Amino acid sequence: MHPWLVRHLMIPLHERLLGRNTIACFQELMATQWLAPDALRTLQRAKLRELLVAAARACPFHRSRFAERGLAPDQGDPFDVLACLPLIDKSTLKAFRADLTNPRIPGGPIPFNTGGSTGEPLIFYFDRRRIAYDKAARMRSHAWFGAWPGSREVYLWGSPAELSRQDRLRNLRDGLTNEKLLSAFRMSPERMRDYLRQIETYRPVSLFGYPSSLALLCEFGERESIRVCVPSLKVVFVTGEVCDDRQRQGIEAYFGVPVANGYGSREGGFLAHECPHGSMHVTAESVVLEVVDEAGRPLPIGESGEIVVTHLDNYAMPFIRYRTGDVGRLLPGVCPCGRGLPRMDVVTGRRTDHLVAADGTLAHALSLIYVLREIDAVHEFRIHQRRDRSVDVLVVPGPVFRDEHRVQIRRGVQRRLGEAIPVRIRLVDAVEPLPSGKHCYVISEAAGDGSAASLPEPATLAEPARAG
Ligand SMILES: [Zn+2]
Repeated sequence: MHPWLVRHLMIPLHERLLGRNTIACFQELMATQWLAPDALRTLQRAKLRELLVAAARACPFHRSRFAERGLAPDQGDPFDVLACLPLIDKSTLKAFRADLTNPRIPGGPIPFNTGGSTGEPLIFYFDRRRIAYDKAARMRSHAWFGAWPGSREVYLWGSPAELSRQDRLRNLRDGLTNEKLLSAFRMSPERMRDYLRQIETYRPVSLFGYPSSLALLCEFGERESIRVCVPSLKVVFVTGEVCDDRQRQGIEAYFGVPVANGYGSREGGFLAHECPHGSMHVTAESVVLEVVDEAGRPLPIGESGEIVVTHLDNYAMPFIRYRTGDVGRLLPGVCPCGRGLPRMDVVTGRRTDHLVAADGTLAHALSLIYVLREIDAVHEFRIHQRRDRSVDVLVVPGPVFRDEHRVQIRRGVQRRLGEAIPVRIRLVDAVEPLPSGKHCYVISEAAGDGSAASLPEPATLAEPARAG
């Protein structure tokens, strides 16, 4: 369908049918991005006060937290009130789900859950307002690169469950919304060959997916000397994982367009996105993003700590000072692009991007990824650390793979994690993606709870990861 019709007819109609004013939110965000930092802070202050008052009124959990601390949500500077509230996390959402939810929200609370690739899924609620603002923020970041609402986009995404549900509607949706979904699950050589051909014939303006899956596709195309010609393509959007420099360079070189990184999570929201000048801009109109120390105190700009978010547009289940588990920092100064939105940097990604060394310290996944990438005889790999800290390395070997490469892998892993860590190397035909469709290089079960592990200072990491 013509992009103009999708943008001006299909999307507004779809959003209106679902009771969301997404287009108005998009137009609002396109204007407010140019506000000066002070004016954005004023906007946040007003929205934060409104949220705190509503949360205290509608949710028993928040009401009792204000009462226990003698705080009045409508008095003083709402940022000061916010700083007095303790952090919440996934376990809070599980334990107090009913007391955190406002059942009388217009349109009703809409249930969502996390993909559940690790452990049991987490259930939480959004309202129409939050979904509209999150979608609008995504549209805005696409517009930064000339991918306007309604322009063609190919998704490399999805879990097998999502796909089977969507299969029947897929052709219809492809036609009506100018979106084409390709499964990131089971990317066999035949499928990847087919995907590259589909991308060429669909003529998208943007591609969207996990950096690991897109990098895999590009590596395959490069290795097989498959040239794709997509003159319409302007940008490749990546999200959901830390995108390292090598993945970024590989994707940019293959498709010949910039890669733009998004940072967010299903429950946290659309938190930040890279602009054409390379800054990760916080979605300040919808999110108060704090970087805090171990005790939950906000850190000065430039210092690294845990990222904690307050979503300003979710009234169905107010997320107030929600711990993301990600480590990052806010950056000083303004971006040359002229937007007043704060800038940030995700320093190390999630705890599960780390492996636990024999002495209990955390080693960033990248330090092990480099071990495997140095070996040309390795085509694909996955490093999987078990709860007992032993490590399985799955290797898809190239034709020149020899026993000496096994020795090199074992030595490299033990140099970083300690001699006492058992390393098992298994040669396989293919590395299966995770249930989410991600093609992770590293899976860590040992770093999940963090009880025995401590996070090293970012400066001691082998190489800083690009924001993800
Ligand atoms: Zn910028």
